[in-house]
Amino acid sequence: MPTATAKRKPKTNPPKMTYCWGESKTEGNASQKDLLGGKGANLAEMTSIGLPVPPGFTIPTTICAAYYEQNGRMPVGLDEATKTAIRRVERETGKKFGSNTNPLLVSVRSGAAVSMPGMMDTVLNLGLTDKAVQGMIELTGNERFAWDAYRRLINMFGDVVMGMNHEDFEHEFDVVKRKYKVTLDTELPAKGLEEVCQRYKKVYKAKVGSAFPQNPYKQLLLSIEAVFKSWNTHRAKMYRQIEGIIGLRGTAVNVQAMVFGNMGKDSGTGVAFTRDPSTGEDKFWGEFLIDAQGEDVVAGIRTPQPVSKMRKWNDKIFCELLVIKKKLEKHYRDMQDIEYTIERGKLWMLQTRNGKRTAASAVKVAVDLVATRLITKDEALLRIPAADLVQLLLPSFTTKSKKDVTKLAKGLAASPGAVTGGLAFSAEDAVTRAEAGEDVILIRKETSPEDIDGMQHAVGILTSTGGSSSHAAVVARGWGKCCVSGASALHINPVRKTVDIDGQTYGEKDIFSIDGGTGEVMLGEVERHEPKPSKAYLTIMKWADQKRRMNVRTNADSPEDAKRAREFGAEGIGLTRTEHMFFESDRILAMRQMILADTKEKREDALARLMPYQCDDFVGIFTAMKGLPVTIRLLDPPLHEFLPHDHAGQRDVAHALGIKPSQVKRRVEQLHEFNPMLGHRGCRLAITYPEILVMQVTAIVEATIECKRKRVDAKPEIMIPLVGTHEELAQLRELTQETIDRIKKKEQYRGKLTIPIGTMIEIPRAAIIADDIADVADFFSFGTNDLTQLTYGYSRDDINSFLPHYLNNGLLDVDPFQSIDVAGVGKLISMGCEGGRSVNSKLKIGICGEHGGDPKSIEFCNSVELNYVSCSPFRVPTARLASAQAEIKGK
Ligand code: PEP
Ligand code: MG
Repeated sequence: MPTATAKRKPKTNPPKMTYCWGESKTEGNASQKDLLGGKGANLAEMTSIGLPVPPGFTIPTTICAAYYEQNGRMPVGLDEATKTAIRRVERETGKKFGSNTNPLLVSVRSGAAVSMPGMMDTVLNLGLTDKAVQGMIELTGNERFAWDAYRRLINMFGDVVMGMNHEDFEHEFDVVKRKYKVTLDTELPAKGLEEVCQRYKKVYKAKVGSAFPQNPYKQLLLSIEAVFKSWNTHRAKMYRQIEGIIGLRGTAVNVQAMVFGNMGKDSGTGVAFTRDPSTGEDKFWGEFLIDAQGEDVVAGIRTPQPVSKMRKWNDKIFCELLVIKKKLEKHYRDMQDIEYTIERGKLWMLQTRNGKRTAASAVKVAVDLVATRLITKDEALLRIPAADLVQLLLPSFTTKSKKDVTKLAKGLAASPGAVTGGLAFSAEDAVTRAEAGEDVILIRKETSPEDIDGMQHAVGILTSTGGSSSHAAVVARGWGKCCVSGASALHINPVRKTVDIDGQTYGEKDIFSIDGGTGEVMLGEVERHEPKPSKAYLTIMKWADQKRRMNVRTNADSPEDAKRAREFGAEGIGLTRTEHMFFESDRILAMRQMILADTKEKREDALARLMPYQCDDFVGIFTAMKGLPVTIRLLDPPLHEFLPHDHAGQRDVAHALGIKPSQVKRRVEQLHEFNPMLGHRGCRLAITYPEILVMQVTAIVEATIECKRKRVDAKPEIMIPLVGTHEELAQLRELTQETIDRIKKKEQYRGKLTIPIGTMIEIPRAAIIADDIADVADFFSFGTNDLTQLTYGYSRDDINSFLPHYLNNGLLDVDPFQSIDVAGVGKLISMGCEGGRSVNSKLKIGICGEHGGDPKSIEFCNSVELNYVSCSPFRVPTARLASAQAEIKGK
């Protein structure tokens, strides 16, 4: 029975709505970024350590979250809490909000837990009204300054809070400038600025439908709401998506007493990094503007001076800043990015945060901070975004040169690098033009194995469809070739050899530059710089290797890739896709002959022609990887991928093989499948055409014996793809072992020859019955490209048709082909590991899907105790560092 007490509502304390900082009291600190946002937490922290910070308060992220929970209604009690907090700022500053003798002006700025520069809104000079502007004149004795501050407020408030068009204000400003016959804003006298304010208020009233608010609290509350709203604008959501920022509740709002850098020649404003953000060098780095407000620096209206020139202007301030630099670095134990303002010769700190930096700078700063004992080696390793290491190995466009180019489109950053070239609309054209010495970008709707030659010859690859594990992306990443995929704004016409973008048509003669690190497609040439590994980089890699538990292998299909990966630190090959070897011009014909054969004998004949090529390839790879394991996957893709689908191509093949074009056409038709990804591929090929397996295994064994006889320690492992049942693997394992034994005997090789035989776990069923499969496997390797495809039922080549919508609308947080879906695919991997190890506790388990080079996925792999991850050569250093980071975090 319900009792009287059960009926009573539990008492809940109203949420705390403001956290203040100032000389008399400071409530927050740097550890409260989730609650107070980065900016708010650090303003409180800087105040606590005795730096000069104008007083203010933070409205926490929980209140922004409450605003959204209540469908965009301001939480009850927020206006009262704001008033109380403003009264504290009034006491600290001795000024009064809205006063006509001594007015307090405040700024309102956003500040989420993770920095989102420029994405959300800011309003400055709040508190100015027709009355308060007179107070400001009285207080400062500077009429021009007061009217300038007022016009800035009306403009910003109109723009940001009321959604007005900036042009409306610009127009009025221009009218007054013409009247006073001046060109620069700064040349307008006080009278002129007063006129600008009157005109601004008029246009404000006309557009908004009510007068510019003369109640400062109304200004303040509307601005706070505008900042809440700016959390969910399209650009803010896109930024979070691109940067992978998930799980935040909203933005905090910081209300702070204004200080002015535009009060004359003894005032100024600036930004600085405590070290060089590009190189990491330990030198104070930044810029400043005399007689200006912070927004002037950001907006680029005037050109600032380098901070090194500050000494000449005001040596005392420069020295003060150097002391603050030291103090901040020591306190935060990291490089800081600061904002400051000098009001009539007094320095004020407005912001500090950990500085964003290039990979080169991140590495150098981390190593230097260890040397000065500010951080430990583990902390240094955790400070470096592992994925950014790729920047250190590939050329990149200089930031400066990128500023001035025409950006045409944006696709997926599929494979890093920065290239410039003419447009080649077919693989054949790419080959011909590249061989004639031209740099070309292969531009295709999507690529297929048939394009491989053109892809290799091109300096970069650009596609209009396809996701991050599409053919173009996977192949390009493997080669370290720049690729932008899924740039959907491109409408490519391969017949006319043109591409339409936003109503403009470009052709073979146009030069594009593509940035595989950002997905940008740009018109014309863009300046690049070449990398070279620094001493600091080598130190970080050494520390990472000492720390990590998992091995790092590479996915490589050629001796060149294997060699390069080894130089990057690969400890073996986790995946050699043998099909790539069949596409080179001298082999494809024999491959096609094999596919077109209508009897086993004819097939064996063609396979015998392919064998020496395979054998040579393996000798090359074993030699490049001597002493290290090399996992070779037997043929995987459906056979139709090796045949041309167009009439001309089929005619050429028929001609080369001395058969009728109709025969080729018929075979292509026979091989047609409605769902080739679910069709006659993977181990199903070897089950139905065992002679293909026999040829490949023979080549592996002969190559191994040839190497061993030359004292090259070859360590092959044979991997059977796309297994879904115990019987498939059992049968193929037996045939593989028989072939190994037979060739060993035939070659009269008497040395030891243990070749592990394992499988890829790519089908959900295989993960579920892993114990059954482990019975006949020496190792597992998770093929997470197919495993993701089959778990979600998303085609890895077509996901881009709906992925942007899913990401924009929160149906997915990240592309599951880039970062492992821990809840689903991850669960299958855990099951697979458990099942496999329950039968064979020593079962070696790795991953060779694209996720093997993604830091978040690597962290997951470490948590389920995989033995190794395998990734494309250029991601090997990333995987080494990410494995070390995973180990440190896991402790
Ligand atoms: C996989 O499916 O994860 C894999 C590595 O194989 P592929 O990408 O060649 O299908
Ligand atoms: Mg696969």
